[in-house]
Amino acid sequence: MLASTSIPSSLHAVVACGVRKSYGIHEVLKGVDLTVDYGKVCSILGPSGSGKSTFLRCMNHLERLNGGILQVGGAMVGYRQHNGKLYEMRKSEVARQRADIGMVFQSFNLFPHMTVLQNIIEAPVNVRRIPKREAVGYAMELLSKVGLSAKAQAYPRTLSGGQQQRVAIARALAMKPKLMLFDEPTSALDPELVGEVLSVMRALAADGMTMIVVTHELGFAREVCDKVVFMDGGVVVEEGSPEELFNNTRTARAKSFLGKVL
Ligand code: ADP
Ligand code: MG
Repeated sequence: MLASTSIPSSLHAVVACGVRKSYGIHEVLKGVDLTVDYGKVCSILGPSGSGKSTFLRCMNHLERLNGGILQVGGAMVGYRQHNGKLYEMRKSEVARQRADIGMVFQSFNLFPHMTVLQNIIEAPVNVRRIPKREAVGYAMELLSKVGLSAKAQAYPRTLSGGQQQRVAIARALAMKPKLMLFDEPTSALDPELVGEVLSVMRALAADGMTMIVVTHELGFAREVCDKVVFMDGGVVVEEGSPEELFNNTRTARAKSFLGKVL
């Protein structure tokens, strides 16, 4: 018999259906729906406080959902299915799922006491148990990709924000993730450093990486993304191709937001 239900889900890197998340009585995500296919780049736009970071954190197993269904990489976040029943995921399963997801934050979050190279090989060696020699070889390849081969032995504090963020991207890629989540990766950078980070992200997209990018960089969203999503008030208000979202905006809320940002 054809396992028909497993076919579509394997094309989807992320499926969110009615995802809800509250902090105390404050409901932050009020039923988020989103599908992102493998190999695609999706950007999430929206005003501050609309729940974008919370949604990314849910995808990365950093939050417990209060409702809805969230599948990442074909597996449900937080739960596993067995004989048709749902069980809470064990810590080891959560760790395995998270190893396939790379995340890049606004604030770089590099380990300050480690060199660039040590930052990059830390997780592959300690989580994936990859031999150090091999991890170093791959780290050097990644550093060359992000244009920082010369900085392998440098400490994060000696690098510019743009360089630190490129190291953070290399560090996430070192785990060979199937999905990359970016939470406003250029928002903390001086304007002249934004371009070098976006160009690394463009190259990654061209390489076929599945990416979800929360950003206010509308040029990036327009040129690089397959899908653009506008979130407001804890829901997806509008989504479509960049052409649809930017040139044929349907909702008043998205129009007003884009009018302010553009
Ligand atoms: P965005 O990334 O779109 O700016 P966030 O997901 O960071 O939005 O936040 C959405 C709302 O959830 C905000 O009102 C924020 O104050 C609240 N929030 C986020 N994280 C927490 C938390 N850990 N505890 C309580 N409230 C939170
Ligand atoms: Mg945020």
